[in-house]
Amino acid sequence: MKAVYIHIPFCKSICSYCDFCKVFYYPKWSYAYLKALKEEIDDVYMGEEVQSIYIGGGTPSSLSCKEIDYLFYFIKKFKRASFCEVTFECNLEDITDDLLKVLKKNKVNRLSIGIESFQDQNLCLLGRNHSFQDAKEKMKKIRSYGFSNVNLDLIYAISKESLKMVKDDLRLFLKLKPDHISTYSLMIEPHTILAHQHIKPIQEEIDRKMYDTICATLKRKGYLHYEVSNFAKKGKESRHNLTYWNNEEYYGFGLSASGYLGNVRYTNTKNLFAYLKGNRKGESQILDQKEKMDHEVMLGLRKLKGINVAEFEKKYQIKMSDAYPLTPLLKQKDLTLKKGYLAISDDKIYVMNEILAKMI
Ligand code: SF4
Repeated sequence: MKAVYIHIPFCKSICSYCDFCKVFYYPKWSYAYLKALKEEIDDVYMGEEVQSIYIGGGTPSSLSCKEIDYLFYFIKKFKRASFCEVTFECNLEDITDDLLKVLKKNKVNRLSIGIESFQDQNLCLLGRNHSFQDAKEKMKKIRSYGFSNVNLDLIYAISKESLKMVKDDLRLFLKLKPDHISTYSLMIEPHTILAHQHIKPIQEEIDRKMYDTICATLKRKGYLHYEVSNFAKKGKESRHNLTYWNNEEYYGFGLSASGYLGNVRYTNTKNLFAYLKGNRKGESQILDQKEKMDHEVMLGLRKLKGINVAEFEKKYQIKMSDAYPLTPLLKQKDLTLKKGYLAISDDKIYVMNEILAKMI
């Protein structure tokens, strides 16, 4: 069984921090894009049962309802498993009765909404514009259509943000009763508007305090911290993202989409006009056994539960302690081994990359 990611690269406005592959929504392009996407799916999909479909972007909700209906018409060819999770990313301002009706009709069962913050200072810097009142009304509408699995994205460590502002955002996010919260510490990537404006990142020490506050608050409010940056109510963990962290295979369709099939990790072209002409090829890498294991370690240790050692050893036919320096890392309490699962120690999650560097 596999997962499917579909990239819709259109946005109605461009956020200052955005490093994703996106272009302005323009109906002439969006229609041509959907046709090219259909061709790619027809060419590549092998007919397997799929456990999750994630429609991300860009902003999928920037498409018109007619376009969204057309997208679901041609992705009907995916054989959905009976428990298939279908996620659709939305921007708050696009959420209308018409959109929710079309998503419900097409059996979307999970919404992911890029709220990011409610602090005026943050929204102004990020290039976003919404209020808590908007979000409250939209959440009410979403629930009235029976959507029972809603993720909200939260960005923190935004330049000049204070710990008090993060706490206030958490308070407001929790009032909306989301089922899942994905958090992101703001990275100022080259070539973004923020980088051109020479906006400085926040100090690491403050970032750490914010992260610790988020983890403690959400845990206290009944969210399971199941991945470094992700929190869910019981049973609402993102099945699609777990595919990535479990190092399982997935298709990536659309502009700049990445996939992992067989021994190959690939990324489609980021050039819209090449993609529209059917020239999808971007980069690809054939993985050898060691690279596959390294990916499994790097991704698997993002889960707080960690990696099932027996399954790992069965899959790769090697003792994990022969492949990686587990003994010193366990001794230093960088790693823990509990009930057969190898995990990063709770108090070391923040410095996880340093531990992975020691391991690989
Ligand atoms: S952050 Fe999301 S909505 Fe904003 S420009 Fe990037 S893809 Fe579009």
